[in-house]
Amino acid sequence: MNLVLLGPPGCGKGTQAKMLFEKYDLMHISTGETFRELLKTDKLDNPADDPGAKEVKKYIDKGLFVPDDIVMKVVSNRLDREDCIKNGFLLDGFPRNLFQAKFLDKHLAQKDRKIYNVVSLELSDETIIARLSSRLICPSCGANYNLISQHPKADKKCDSCGKKLVQRKDDTVEVVKRRLDIYKNETFPLIKYYTTKHLLVKINAENNVEEVFKDICNAINNKI
Ligand SMILES: [Zn+2]
Repeated sequence: MNLVLLGPPGCGKGTQAKMLFEKYDLMHISTGETFRELLKTDKLDNPADDPGAKEVKKYIDKGLFVPDDIVMKVVSNRLDREDCIKNGFLLDGFPRNLFQAKFLDKHLAQKDRKIYNVVSLELSDETIIARLSSRLICPSCGANYNLISQHPKADKKCDSCGKKLVQRKDDTVEVVKRRLDIYKNETFPLIKYYTTKHLLVKINAENNVEEVFKDICNAINNKI
């Protein structure tokens, strides 16, 4: 079974991804993770083995976004590995746009493989903004808190080291709204594309983690 998981920032996508790949024994593939793994391998010394590696490094070293065609080359190489073919995969945060989605379909189709379901986690802007702008972090030990779901024991102080908790720069309401707009602009064509292909499963992500997970599993099982 090959799955794609889509969802705005703050929807709990990471948690659901983890629960899904554990339950269905899927390979969890994210571009960030794939890049990191790629940059660690010694293939970089021998780019002929993996032409994507050297290119990715060039962009990341300069702090630039890796262009779509290179992302595609690297991710499709990863998906062609035995573990992904045997177990199936869960794509997290990828494809990000229509170009990537079409490339992915074409690549898989050449090998008689395909995406089975695209799970889209949906929640209102209000909930996302409320969730993200209530996140706090400990500047000393890095522990995460949330004033809605994961309250520190003492008022805005870290449970483990007692330091005063702070908000991350990219968690302010203005920044969250901007990130949300970017997400919507990128994802809207994807949602449309997968809807026409009858692959899209919309899940209400306002509920708690267990309920959302149950809904995803039911939806997937119904479609198999
Ligand atoms: Zn701390």
